[in-house]
Amino acid sequence: MADKRDYYDVLGVSKTATDDEIKKAYRVLARKYHPDAHPGDKDAEEKFKEATEAYGILSDADKRAQYDRFGHSAFEQGGAGGAGGFNFTGMDFGDIFGDIFGDLFGAGGATRGGYSSRSSNSPQKGPNARVGIRISFEDAVFGCKKEIEFNHKEQCPTCNGTGAKPGSKVETCSKCGGQGKVVFNQRTLFGMAQSVQTCPDCRGTGKVIKDKCTACYGSGYISKKKHLEVNIPAGIDDGQAIRLRGMGEPGSNGGEYGDLLVEVSVTRHPTFQRDGFDIYSTAALPFTKAALGGFITIPTIDGDVEYEIKPGTQTDTRIALKNKGVPRGGDMNRRGTHYVTLIVSVPTTLTAEQKRLLKDLDESFDNGKPRKKWGK
Ligand SMILES: [Zn+2]
Ligand SMILES: [Zn+2]
Repeated sequence: MADKRDYYDVLGVSKTATDDEIKKAYRVLARKYHPDAHPGDKDAEEKFKEATEAYGILSDADKRAQYDRFGHSAFEQGGAGGAGGFNFTGMDFGDIFGDIFGDLFGAGGATRGGYSSRSSNSPQKGPNARVGIRISFEDAVFGCKKEIEFNHKEQCPTCNGTGAKPGSKVETCSKCGGQGKVVFNQRTLFGMAQSVQTCPDCRGTGKVIKDKCTACYGSGYISKKKHLEVNIPAGIDDGQAIRLRGMGEPGSNGGEYGDLLVEVSVTRHPTFQRDGFDIYSTAALPFTKAALGGFITIPTIDGDVEYEIKPGTQTDTRIALKNKGVPRGGDMNRRGTHYVTLIVSVPTTLTAEQKRLLKDLDESFDNGKPRKKWGK
C-alpha cells in the first residue's frame, strides 16, 4: 500500500469531526462500496477496505490521537507511536456492521459471525446457580419452609469489588483498549471481515489488574455461605424448581445477579404414589367385608378416613376420594383425587371357631349337596 491517503480524506470528514460524523461518513461509504453489493469489483473492494481501515483508527480515541500526532507511521510496525502495528483492536464494529448488514440484506442477512454482537462490556446478567433440596411426600403436597445453604459471591470488602490490591491501580487492558473484545481480521470473498471475540487478556472486562487483591485473588468477589428459608409451595412436584431472583452468580460489567434455582426432589412414599395432582394407593379389603359391605379404614394424605364399602365389592375395585389429592396452584380447595384400589384379602390364619363358621358358610353355598372328596 504505497502512498496511503489521509484517513480524514478517505472518510471525507474534517480533522475536527465528531465521532458521530465519522461513524456516519463510514456508514455511507461502507454501504456504497460493500463488496457484496459489487461482486468482483476490485476497485470497490479497495475503497471498502480503505474506508474500514480509516474508520478503525478514527473511531478509536487513542488511535486517533496517535494518528493525529504521527500520521500513518503510528501504526506501522515499530512506528513512532509504538502501537505495535495496526490490528483493528478495540474497534466497535458490532453496531455499525449490524446496521449496515441490516440495511443491505434485511434482518436475516446479518448472520455473519460476530457482526451482530453488541458491545461485550455492556452490563450482563449473571448465570443462574442451582441448589438441590429433598423434601418428603407430605411436604410436597402441603408445602413447607426449608432452610437452604448455598455459596453466594459477594463484593469483596477489601477491594470493593475492583479485584485490585488497595492502593494499586486497575489499568485499561492494552490488548482490547478497554473494549472487552477484540476484532480479528479474516480474509473473505468480500475483503476484510471482522470477527468480534471476547478479549482473551481481560476476559471481556476491559481492565487488567496488575496487583491483585489478596482477599479475593483478583476476582472482586468472595464466596460466602448463605442460609435462606425457602417457601416451598403446596403441590410442588419432584423435579420442579423454585426461582430465587438475584441469588445466583454475579453479572458482568455491573449487570445484575443471576437467579438461584432451588431444585426439589421428593422422597418416595411407602403408601402413596403421585401423578400430577392425583394420588394413588391400594387398600386391603377383608373378604368378609367385601361380601357383606361395611366400613373400612383407608389411609390418606390427610390421615385415616372411614369408607363405606358396598356389599359384594370385588377385588381391584377402584374408589375415588375427591379433594384428597394434591392442591392445584397451592389452593387447598382445589385438590386432585385420591384413587384407592381395593384388594380383597384372605386371612392366612384362622381360629377353630372361625374355621367352623366358614365351613358352615361354605356348606350353605353348596345347598347341602355332598361333595366329591379329593385326596384322602
Ligand atoms: Zn478483593
Ligand atoms: Zn482486554
